[in-house]
Amino acid sequence: MSRVIDETHDPERTGWPQGAAGHGAFPVQNLPFGIFSCVDRAPRGGIAIGDQILDLGRLAATGLLAGDAAEAARAAAHPTLNAMFALGARPRRALRRAIFALLSDRRHEDRVAPCLVHAADATMHLPCAVGDYTDFYAGIHHATAVGKLFRPDNPLLPNYKHVPIGYHGRASSVVVSGTGFRRPCGQTKPAGQDAPQFGPSQRLDYELELGIWLGRGNALGEAIPIAEAPAHIAGFCLLNDWSARDIQALEYQPLGPFLAKNFCTTVSAWVVTPEALAPFRVKQAARPVGDPPPLPYLHDPADQAEGAIDLALRVTLLTPAMRAAGLAPVTLSQGNARDLYWTVAQLVAHHASNGCNLASGDLLGTGTISAPDPAGAGSLLELTEGGKTLIRLGNGETRSFLADGDEIGLHASATRPGFVPIGFGPCIGQVQGSVGC
Ligand code: CA
Repeated sequence: MSRVIDETHDPERTGWPQGAAGHGAFPVQNLPFGIFSCVDRAPRGGIAIGDQILDLGRLAATGLLAGDAAEAARAAAHPTLNAMFALGARPRRALRRAIFALLSDRRHEDRVAPCLVHAADATMHLPCAVGDYTDFYAGIHHATAVGKLFRPDNPLLPNYKHVPIGYHGRASSVVVSGTGFRRPCGQTKPAGQDAPQFGPSQRLDYELELGIWLGRGNALGEAIPIAEAPAHIAGFCLLNDWSARDIQALEYQPLGPFLAKNFCTTVSAWVVTPEALAPFRVKQAARPVGDPPPLPYLHDPADQAEGAIDLALRVTLLTPAMRAAGLAPVTLSQGNARDLYWTVAQLVAHHASNGCNLASGDLLGTGTISAPDPAGAGSLLELTEGGKTLIRLGNGETRSFLADGDEIGLHASATRPGFVPIGFGPCIGQVQGSVGC
């Protein structure tokens, strides 16, 4: 099971690398995986520690690692983490524990310090070559709020509480945090017009989601039992499912999202492991009275007891005018990953339940995570009630949907008394001029 508390969560331990002690996101208790490059190094696997990155290939070459940990470090010395994730949970956990021991004990500093680079000198890349990307719809408050815009009396469709709703997304347009993207063009039908027109989307939106990186996959034709699903998850990221609401409104029936969603999806650079999140796993909220229980293939007592993640989420906006004036980004909303109707293990088990083969480096999105309170909505569609109300920013600007130059940041942090807080690092994307239409 994923929720093992061990010495790597000891709040008394600190990392010796620069900036590690008291770091808001990457203390030694986190140790997320990512792919970085710098002037003298091609893209390769690393681990974030404070303000620095530990080069896993160079660490493997020191001879300080042995067994599973050494195997995992060697597998990470590539331009993607797919091979390391394919090894499964045991080598990954062994590597994290070995690195924790090295980075929390100054006796190893002389030999390990040459494997560190300053994060400020590095460029981050996608953690994996994404073979397949699937987006779910497990945020029930989002599904309810969006449903209300179209069906005030019956916001949730009848299948929602029986089956985790999802669709296959587009892997080729998944980009890492910091990558700009073009406003999409498409067919839209403004109110009052009889026929669609083609042009830049006027209702460009973001969606606050948690991303799930697949570890070891399953063979085609073989399901993943829910009790085994946690062992197939390599880690988590923040995911922004950019959405063109006007294109979506015209195209989504009867087959669902297509061009309104597949032009760009942004993920945060670091893969936060299930091991690092173990102290922050909590009981899945009890379903409201009258809701159907999950079918047996989606029910596991251990998953119900600790399958939710207490992860605080926040969305920020930085407009060009704010940037020019030197203002800080403004917070648009705050939520928590606990507000998912289905656990991440249920999403994985459901995806493979028909024999669909998942592969290491596949990416799943949970669906937009909104809080029960409308002010904690995870998209502009909800915050502006379908574009009807304007959001007033502190500098006097207003927004209904995103303008060119706007930068959206997603942020996550986990805290619990008795444990050192950890973060995910930001998921940032900026709207650039439109695709040529
Ligand atoms: Ca979505």
